[in-house]
Amino acid sequence: VVITGAAGGIGRAAAERFAREGASVVAVDLAGSALDEVVALVDGAGARAVGVPADVSKSSDVERYVRIAKERFGGIDAFFNNAGIEGWIGPTTQYPEEIFDKVIAVNLKGVFLGIKYVVPAMLERGGGAIVNTASVAGLSGTPSIFAYGASKHAVVGMTKSAALEFGPRGIRTNAVCPSPIETRMMRALERGMNPDEPEQAHQQMAAGNPMGRYGEPAEVAAFVAFLCSSEASYLNGGIFPIDGGRMAR
Ligand code: NAD
Repeated sequence: VVITGAAGGIGRAAAERFAREGASVVAVDLAGSALDEVVALVDGAGARAVGVPADVSKSSDVERYVRIAKERFGGIDAFFNNAGIEGWIGPTTQYPEEIFDKVIAVNLKGVFLGIKYVVPAMLERGGGAIVNTASVAGLSGTPSIFAYGASKHAVVGMTKSAALEFGPRGIRTNAVCPSPIETRMMRALERGMNPDEPEQAHQQMAAGNPMGRYGEPAEVAAFVAFLCSSEASYLNGGIFPIDGGRMAR
């Protein structure tokens, strides 16, 4: 399995979960991030891992992580296309253009490039499973994080298009739409919502969720592992909220 954003909250939990399932893990994240720790975590779970420092928005980096996956483990069966950034938080009329471009580069182009270069590797092995990380911000409007919402709606669209294009050739593509999950990203969003008392934003969001709490990264990882397994053999093009019921409203 190739996991992007593997040093982050959800990616790391996924690396650990896939390792426990016996997968060999290619952990992809920005250079200087906590990649070594993730590789050690996978090792500790008794599975094989390689860490690849890469920027998912650069095609040469994406080609490289695919090449390393093939060289080290013989190919790619599962791809968790998960790296993402929240961007700027605030009124859309003040949204900095360069941050808008950055969010689109990582969250949208990064997911596209991943699909572009991973699919041929999967086809060489007769198929596989892709899970893209969208968000509930890909399903409903979120005016305070304008670029993020745009990019995650695009991830939903790319998931559906990939499912139709590659399903007939044995590659299933699905998307997960988490929120709110206990990771660095939610800490950043809480600070953006209430800079003086981010803990209050946390409590409000937890209390406002039908389950009365945030989700844990492991709860996302469990479903991603299921989507990539043969148990999910008829799931393709699905867009799945993992949100404690928030989108049921
Ligand atoms: P996180 O910040 O802990 O992890 C994101 C990881 O992506 C980080 O390790 C970061 O270094 C990496 N990354 C960022 N830019 C990159 C790039 N250009 N190339 C390679 N790696 C890069 O946050 P998380 O919550 O684990 O987020 C994982 C995914 O889940 C993201 O796509 C995010 O948008 C999505 N998501 C999270 C939540 C939530 O509540 N935490 C909700 C909805 C969606």
